[in-house]
Amino acid sequence: MSAVLPGQPLLAEGVAPHGLPPFEAIEPAHFEPALEQAMREHREAVAALGAQAAPPDFDNTCAALDRSGARLLRFVALFHTLCASVSSAPLQAVQRRLAAPLAAHHSAIHTDAAFFARLDALHAQRATLGLDAESLRLLERQHLDFVRSGARLPGPQRRRHAELMQALAELQTRFAQNVLHAEAAWQLPLPDAAAMAGLPPFVRAAARQAAQERGLPGAVVTLARSLVLPFLTFSERADLRERVWRAWVGRGEEGGAHDNRPLVREILRLRHELAGLMGHACYADFALADTMAGTRERVDALLQAVWQRAVPQALAERRALEALRDAALPDEAGRPLREWDWRYWAERLRRERYALDDAELKPYFELGRMMQAAFDCAGRLFGLRFERRDDLPVYHPDVVAFEVFDADGSLRGLFLHDHFARPGKRSGAWMNALRWQSRNTADGQPQTPVILNTNNFARGEPGSPTLLSLEDARTLFHEFGHGLHGLLSEVRFQRLSGTQVLRDFVELPSQIFEHWIAEPEVLRRHARHWQTGEPIPDALIERLQRARRFNQGYETVRYTASALLDLALHARAEAEPPADVCAWEAAFLADAGLPGGCGVNHRLVHFQHLFAGSSYAAGYYVYLWAEVLDADGYDAFAEAGGPFDAAVAERLRRHVYAAGNRVEPNAAFEAFRGRPPRLEPLLAKRGLLEAAASPAAQ
Ligand SMILES: [Zn+2]
Repeated sequence: MSAVLPGQPLLAEGVAPHGLPPFEAIEPAHFEPALEQAMREHREAVAALGAQAAPPDFDNTCAALDRSGARLLRFVALFHTLCASVSSAPLQAVQRRLAAPLAAHHSAIHTDAAFFARLDALHAQRATLGLDAESLRLLERQHLDFVRSGARLPGPQRRRHAELMQALAELQTRFAQNVLHAEAAWQLPLPDAAAMAGLPPFVRAAARQAAQERGLPGAVVTLARSLVLPFLTFSERADLRERVWRAWVGRGEEGGAHDNRPLVREILRLRHELAGLMGHACYADFALADTMAGTRERVDALLQAVWQRAVPQALAERRALEALRDAALPDEAGRPLREWDWRYWAERLRRERYALDDAELKPYFELGRMMQAAFDCAGRLFGLRFERRDDLPVYHPDVVAFEVFDADGSLRGLFLHDHFARPGKRSGAWMNALRWQSRNTADGQPQTPVILNTNNFARGEPGSPTLLSLEDARTLFHEFGHGLHGLLSEVRFQRLSGTQVLRDFVELPSQIFEHWIAEPEVLRRHARHWQTGEPIPDALIERLQRARRFNQGYETVRYTASALLDLALHARAEAEPPADVCAWEAAFLADAGLPGGCGVNHRLVHFQHLFAGSSYAAGYYVYLWAEVLDADGYDAFAEAGGPFDAAVAERLRRHVYAAGNRVEPNAAFEAFRGRPPRLEPLLAKRGLLEAAASPAAQ
């Protein structure tokens, strides 16, 4: 359909297997012309669909729309992957320039009046069209996409809507780049033994590795989460912990050109206006209208139920930590525990109470073995087989590719992982698709998915293995659960494929998969000492089991406080955002009763879920919402007799992992579980049921 431009490798597709692009030939400068051409083709395709002489039907409207823009979708996925994982100043400049045009394109497609008139007409007659369930779901989903993107607004408001979307895209891009800048700009040198006091060998090694990656001598602490958290956990130097803590929570608030405070205010102002255009009193109402929860009240009820139990739990945990500290450091007695002290004293208490020590555990959690554990669980549950392919093109030497096969030998797709923290890579862990599973393709050939898992583990030193913490291993399983959601997808239409589900359902497949890494049976099989190959001792597994609710008040409070903050901020009725978002945040948290010393998972100035894009705005609660589902859902295995029960695994695959968005999520869960979800398993898992039963805890 389009001519290949000379020197334009992006447009010369279809050479490598799995539709992989020729990564090594791609330069930042290639993206603008390629994306502009792909956007133009997409607009022309949708305009042609709107101009058809034939009356609208499902195939010439819904299925055809689902096929359109396939090339653009692939370019955008590739572009975002490179921006997040191998960023550079030229690529960031392209990203800033493309933010508004991409948003404008989205608006242009979703406000194409001729096409929407046909879609709207079909939607009005949807009950009488004789559509199968998945087709009906696609029609309803597409219609809602258009309506929520402003298709029904009168002309001037529609134009304003498009302007708002472009301005938001630019602001959100700058917000994310500012966080990246803050993380890249800061480091704390550890020049001598005194600065390293308390750090186990793996943290020292990670600090030396971080220095080397930045071209510095010795060892440094950077703001990579995989270094910050171990440092706060083990460093005996309260003064250095305080410096790391302040830099970590101060990301985005440092003043100057990279300060996120003005961006947060502007994003909030525009979101409020957007919600008003769409007929809602606040942005939270607009965002929640398209979720399982549906309303602020239902989200708030869940958050409050957990918050009320978690706060007394965290206070009790703090008293225990203070008692331990007072005994160890009599000079400190009576002083409140500070934020940079909590993890350190919690680790000491954990060691004392459960004889658990990260340094003792880590040799059993070697990265390669943990990946094998994830593959093995996917094999035992779903019959999948992973075959390494070192001959395929990838975007960085850290990336490893695997072809994935079903039990019957058929190809399911391609799985890539990119595990290590490095300069130019966004912090955090995520899954994305370079290509979605679909059977509705232009050439009629089924399209297998290409799924990427990204982590930020601290790489072992040259010649040494990468050893994970149990929390890291859980993250690995979490992202792999998302990966399976992409790989196991069995839908006809791309729009309904994989993780493109309602956002408070999307964490179910990832969070439920975390349960397997904690299973003694899985640990015995895969958690083997990297040097001796000995399986993890049963006594250690037992101590791990006993300690699994340790410090859960703290973790729950930190998460829930961030979720409450998000909801309250986006539920404000005032058009004008708070004059000082940090002061507003502090006042809100004090008012909510956040226990001193805890802190929150994310402060507003670097809360990327909320401000680096809009898909989690008023949506940070989704992890807890999905945890209700995963805690209750996983119990189905225990009830059936074991973590690999074949019948339960088959239901989980069919109704959750394979179903994408072709089934309404409440119905999908009930089909899997046989009944609606219950809250109690979540509370039990976090050790909050006992707190509720105890009168002292209220
Ligand atoms: Zn997730």
